[in-house]
Amino acid sequence: MMIYDVVIIGAGPAGLFSALSLNKEKVLLIEKNKQPGKKLLISGAGQCNYTNYCSMEEFLKRYGDKGRFLKTALYNFTNKDAVEFFKKKGLESLVREDNKVFPITLNSSDILNVLINSCIEKGVEIRYEESAIKISYDDINQMYLIKTNKGNHAALNLIIASGGMTYPNTGSTGEGYAFAKDLGHTIISPREALAPVYADSYQFKELSGISFENIGVTLWRNNKKINEFKGDFLFTHVNISGPVILNNSRHFEIGDILRINFTQFKNAEEFKKYFDELIANSGRLNVKTAIKNINLPKRFIEKVMELSQVHEETTCSQLDKVKRKKLAELISDFPFKVERLGSSSIAMVTKGGVSTDEIINKTMESKLKPNLFFAGEIIDYDGDTGGFNIQAAFSTGKLAAESINKK
Ligand SMILES: Cc1cc2nc3c(=O)[nH]c(=O)nc-3n(C[C@H](O)[C@H](O)[C@H](O)COP(=O)(O)OP(=O)(O)OC[C@H]3O[C@@H](n4cnc5c(N)ncnc54)[C@H](O)[C@@H]3O)c2cc1C
Repeated sequence: MMIYDVVIIGAGPAGLFSALSLNKEKVLLIEKNKQPGKKLLISGAGQCNYTNYCSMEEFLKRYGDKGRFLKTALYNFTNKDAVEFFKKKGLESLVREDNKVFPITLNSSDILNVLINSCIEKGVEIRYEESAIKISYDDINQMYLIKTNKGNHAALNLIIASGGMTYPNTGSTGEGYAFAKDLGHTIISPREALAPVYADSYQFKELSGISFENIGVTLWRNNKKINEFKGDFLFTHVNISGPVILNNSRHFEIGDILRINFTQFKNAEEFKKYFDELIANSGRLNVKTAIKNINLPKRFIEKVMELSQVHEETTCSQLDKVKRKKLAELISDFPFKVERLGSSSIAMVTKGGVSTDEIINKTMESKLKPNLFFAGEIIDYDGDTGGFNIQAAFSTGKLAAESINKK
């Protein structure tokens, strides 16, 4: 049986970046798929939003309370370092106005090719269609034994970078959790994050594709307001989505009420005041025409008028108090009851995973087993949409590799 300096499980962004950052002689990267980076290829709708150009202070905030754990890794290899890395490899990047960073070609396979070629240049042995099945630690010889569908390997150092458990058709099926558990680690219950919300009695199917920029969402549980968020919102044909829903889905529970303020008014009260005045001052104008001043999509206005049973031809002076109140509420305080979150087949990342309490954040090494490292989404962190997850995979992968290089 071959004894490797390092074996890496999983050729996603975390595994590939670890591999290309290693300076060891015998490095094996095993990937169960026929090809590497299947999830990376579909990221950012195939364009790969691989990092974000916001300040590093802001960057850390985008992982909730896990920013502290990721701080060393992210400062060791920052968003700017990532852009520079690809530039040096001949791939320029495009920084969009919203700070999202993509390869200039808007093609995720260009990012993947740089990663693979860098691994090949480093002499990394990559084996595809090889799946780790069982991993154990041999205390006497101080090495890891990796049983795969194709044979056995031994490793002085092991990096588990097998991803989370969402989008399982990309290969991220959560097997890594069992390996970590067998090696003594605690797994924080994995669940879907960056998931759209399926609302009770969803009535916006025909508004699919309509989006709203930077609007307010308040989260209510047991009749108490417990949080508020701001961001872009999207209706799809089956659920509500967009960054403000996806990024905050980690906070939502079944039965919660999400109240959406579709206007740019600070809150529903302010809007209601404005709306009452608008209706009072618009006399014989159609309600529909008067509402145009609020600058909302036409189809959305038609829908809320239908839901509050206000007829197309109703003039402002004909609008009774009850309907006026209803209409204002639907526009600025629309309640969606969370029926369920998008399942693991459509959630973009996994919340939960290998407990960060048992990983040294300065090295990504296990606190429980020597020479065992974790990188990427298998770890219990999850970032917002906007390039934060791939950057974290790169940064944790690189830190794990550099820690091994120093040994
Ligand atoms: C639709 C979609 C769009 C996304 N868009 C973005 C985006 O634009 N920007 C962003 O930052 N993030 C995005 N993400 C999230 C991002 O892609 C992931 O966070 C990132 O890929 C995680 O990297 P990873 O290397 O940790 O895991 P993965 O990419 O999941 O890679 C893990 C690899 O390990 C392999 N593996 C698993 N088990 C075994 C085993 N037993 N033996 C061998 N190999 C194994 C898998 O086949 C897989 O190739 C998106 C996710 C999805 C689903």
